[in-house]
Amino acid sequence: MSKLPDDTPPLIDRIGVGLSRVATAMRTEAWTAADAIGLNPTQLQILTFLVARGRAGMRVKQIAAYLGVSQPTTTDSVNALLRKGLVDKQSDPTDARALAVAATPAGESAVRRAGELASATEDAIAALSKLEQQDLLVHLLKIIRRLQMAGAIPEQRMCVNCRYFRPHVHDDPSAPHHCAFVDAAFGPAELRVDCGEYESGEEGARETAWRVFTREAG
Ligand code: SF4
Repeated sequence: MSKLPDDTPPLIDRIGVGLSRVATAMRTEAWTAADAIGLNPTQLQILTFLVARGRAGMRVKQIAAYLGVSQPTTTDSVNALLRKGLVDKQSDPTDARALAVAATPAGESAVRRAGELASATEDAIAALSKLEQQDLLVHLLKIIRRLQMAGAIPEQRMCVNCRYFRPHVHDDPSAPHHCAFVDAAFGPAELRVDCGEYESGEEGARETAWRVFTREAG
């Protein structure tokens, strides 16, 4: 049987090319979705992030840090969203002297409208089996965590970083993990990548949780 020529690019390169193709499709869709509601992709990204935070909102500096967007760009985008009535400012529940930016009902409805637009990437992911989707999510979490540790992206508000995450504490294979915030068991398909209730875990506890999580999920 003949073999592929030796010049086949390394596996890691081909995965990178594949990811960049998906990223291209997602970028195009982000422009289309943002344009449909009169925003640019950064404004829509910030608004979507704020909708997930609920009325507690978040300070501009924190928004910039979590999304990895510069503070001046975040300030400009927030000002544009304020002018359109999609966000407002209120006292920060964690510090009465500071102001938090929160999505208004109009902002929530704009994000809903943007999310209802057809998405070829969502359709492509939905075409995977449930098990493939779940495996993909776990692999993505591993990659995101490595990027975070390398300083390539800011800390993400995901279960595997969270002080409330208790991996593999239940015998039920469909719901082995526990969220101590809502005191409920959940399964791998429900792992969050951006959770409104997230609180950063202490480094040592995070490492221990990660070891337990990957030993049994990997
Ligand atoms: S609070 Fe959110 S991020 Fe934290 S463990 Fe519960 S679901 Fe996951």
